[in-house]
Amino acid sequence: MKKTTPLPRYGGIEAGGSKFVCATGSGPQDLSNEIRFPTTTPEETLDRAVAYFREQRRRHPLSAIGVGSFGPLDARRGSPTFGYITTTPKPGWANTDFAGRLERALELPVYFDTDTNAAALGEHCWGAAQKLKDFLYLTVGTGIGGGAMANGRLLHGFNHIEAGHIRVPHDRERDPFPGNCPFHGDCLEGLACGPAVEQRWNRRAETLPPDHPAWELEAEYLAHAAVNFLLTLAPQRIIMGGGVMEQQQLFPLIRQKVSRLLNNYLRLPEITAHLDQYIVPPELGNRAGILGAIALAQKGGKL
Ligand SMILES: [Zn+2]
Repeated sequence: MKKTTPLPRYGGIEAGGSKFVCATGSGPQDLSNEIRFPTTTPEETLDRAVAYFREQRRRHPLSAIGVGSFGPLDARRGSPTFGYITTTPKPGWANTDFAGRLERALELPVYFDTDTNAAALGEHCWGAAQKLKDFLYLTVGTGIGGGAMANGRLLHGFNHIEAGHIRVPHDRERDPFPGNCPFHGDCLEGLACGPAVEQRWNRRAETLPPDHPAWELEAEYLAHAAVNFLLTLAPQRIIMGGGVMEQQQLFPLIRQKVSRLLNNYLRLPEITAHLDQYIVPPELGNRAGILGAIALAQKGGKL
């Protein structure tokens, strides 16, 4: 009789600026024991994560931990500050040795990347980017960020990409809102993140009706961003997730505008015939982050 060996289990942390999500498992089929707690000081928050994994480990051994974190951070292997949150304005978290602290406390390998690269990897393993080697994952929520895979590897250069801080055209006559990015004012994030929508219209974004002009303008900014990434990275697909993208009416608006902005320059079927499969929502929805963290742990150093 064939003996079935249990799947190796991994720990995942989706580390956000306001909350941490921790879970264990090996994929969507067995993700379990998820807990959430607020992000407070680094000591308190990381100690809670360590206590959680110690408790989990009593039931099932864990092979590794994956972390998809808010940043900016250092995800360059071999760098002296690998695994650190670096220059974040979040109080107390600048220069925090996130991965090292977990590794020492748990004596397990810790794989560390941005929240958006982790979400991209989650979508690659189990969601909207399966079998694709080149794609972009953009998240539009409290902030705007991006993760990318290029030639089958998560994209890391001298830094992780900072897709939210690119510039897009801003017609101040049409949209006098100056933008709310503390560094750049009217960069993409400053114009199009959730809080920017709320400040511009003085209403919570989710209370704006689907035919409100807010969405036409939002789609315009996001279409400019999509075109910039499409032309520079040539991704096989652009996945757009995050709280703001739960407004499903944005997708057809963005696709129309992308098509208009490209103006028949690219005669490729992805653009001319299948734009609805080119700019898509995430298939893992709001589980992309935590599943991506599990995937980071599973793929380990192979990325
Ligand atoms: Zn900015």
